Amino acid sequence: MKASDWKHVHGSSEKSPECENCGPWIKHWKKLCILDGVKADAQKCAVYDCNNPASEGAHIRNSNVNINYIAPMCDKCNSTSNDSFTLKDKTVIVLANVSKSCGAAKLSSDVRVTIEATTNDYDKAKRGQKKDGGGYFY
Ligand SMILES: [Zn+2]
Ligand SMILES: [Zn+2]
Repeated sequence: MKASDWKHVHGSSEKSPECENCGPWIKHWKKLCILDGVKADAQKCAVYDCNNPASEGAHIRNSNVNINYIAPMCDKCNSTSNDSFTLKDKTVIVLANVSKSCGAAKLSSDVRVTIEATTNDYDKAKRGQKKDGGGYFY
């Protein structure tokens, strides 16, 4: 799955503040990762260039995919606006749809996907960063 052009899903925290099976969405993410042996507790925020520990599970989607996923994030990144963001290489994200993930009788292999970043993704992320004093890099 590509690393760039992810966005927050609007209204997700109001509509479904918690997973009906797992509780907080970060637990939903951990549960589905641990099954695959991912060291979930060591996870940092999934957003490129952010080194904060992940404390929340963020609903995200990519315009190219049209499926909602949960990614581990710090509360700062999870509370930011409309801007699109880039995820770190090798980040594991999980399906947000409960009936297809933690609520499924048998987990399918597409419950988890791994982000595969290209150099281009990160050039783009840098161009999108705000310069000190305003403006953007191009
Ligand atoms: Zn769940
Ligand atoms: Zn963050």
